[in-house]
Amino acid sequence: MSKRDGDDWKPATKLVRGGTMRSQFGETSEAIFLTSGYAYDSAEQAAARMAGEEEGFVYSRYANPTVRMLEERLALLDGAEACRVTASGMGAISSAMIAPVGAGDRVVAASALFGSCRVICQTILPRYGVETEFVPGADLDAWKKALSRPAKLVLIESPSNPLLEAVDIEAVAELAHKAGAKLVVDNVFATPVLQRPFDLGADVCVYSATKHMDGQGRVLAGAILGKADWIEEFIDPWLRHTGPAASPFNAWVVLKGLETLDLRVREASRSAARIADAIAGHANVRAVHYPGRKDHPHHAIHAKQMSEGGTLIAFSVKGERAEAFRVLNALTLVDISNNLGDTKSLACHPASTTHRALNEEERASMGLDESWIRLSVGLEDAGDLEKDILAALDAM
Ligand SMILES: *Cc1c(COP(=O)(O)O)cnc(C)c1O
Repeated sequence: MSKRDGDDWKPATKLVRGGTMRSQFGETSEAIFLTSGYAYDSAEQAAARMAGEEEGFVYSRYANPTVRMLEERLALLDGAEACRVTASGMGAISSAMIAPVGAGDRVVAASALFGSCRVICQTILPRYGVETEFVPGADLDAWKKALSRPAKLVLIESPSNPLLEAVDIEAVAELAHKAGAKLVVDNVFATPVLQRPFDLGADVCVYSATKHMDGQGRVLAGAILGKADWIEEFIDPWLRHTGPAASPFNAWVVLKGLETLDLRVREASRSAARIADAIAGHANVRAVHYPGRKDHPHHAIHAKQMSEGGTLIAFSVKGERAEAFRVLNALTLVDISNNLGDTKSLACHPASTTHRALNEEERASMGLDESWIRLSVGLEDAGDLEKDILAALDAM
């Protein structure tokens, strides 16, 4: 990979400066190019652009200057050769999982995945003749067995949604490569600030930029990062012809969100660590899963690949759905919402919301029962949040 401007910068600098392209006006803030098309100087130039013989934009379903700035910033941040931004996280993940495979191919995925990712692997891919197999993410022997046969793609999420389990990215990357597969890592929960999948052997990294990257609950966006030749061979034709292109306006919102990503994620992660400790001792709490706590079943793996515990906490209350609902309904500051990675702290009941598309058996395979609550910690004062959550647990 040839060196780019900014490759030597630290992440905080990349987040503020990476990919910026100034117009002839010298604007300090990135411009929003709300244009679907582009005009050419001549018919010859139009032909050369369309043939890919001349650099330049041709149509915003293919590429757009504002979207391009975001792609360059994200590629720089994760240390990837190439990035493509899409209209949503699922636009990115579905493209990364569907574009490179065909009938007869095999996909292996961790069983604990974001609900829609699980549906893609379990329901959509098999319809097109792609065999999929699920593996308990933390079980290396199961990965060895599943990857003793050739596969095309492996999909993992670490920490996983909603129980924040760890998958050993480095170990699974090695097994995936031996099986001839590319490893796709959904790095939404950790964010590029706290975890660097490419350094651990991942081939492709996917994001919902809707979450921490915008981080202020405004827009949907997604990203696919990987080697330039893989993106050009599989992802570009897929995106061009199926059309999940991001709006330049949304890309701009995410660009501005990235400028504060490092600050926001680190601050929320500090608060989350404090809140996880505070609720762990509560009489109505059965278990707390927080990657930064030593009692997390996969703490050692998280500690190896994440620099901090992150902004999400999962906890199980002593009871079932009714008790979990009572806690959620007693919150006065934290909102009940299935979104995450926001400046506003948000809590949800995964079994009845984000993971309701799965049946009970599938939920059980990922250790998810009705007692779990997922909390996304935002930027309110940590003491105020702690008070709200402890009071809600008291009210249970
Ligand atoms: C939200 C989310 C997605 C999907 O992203 P959208 O932007 O909502 O389409 C995928 N994976 C994870 C882990 C998520 O949290």
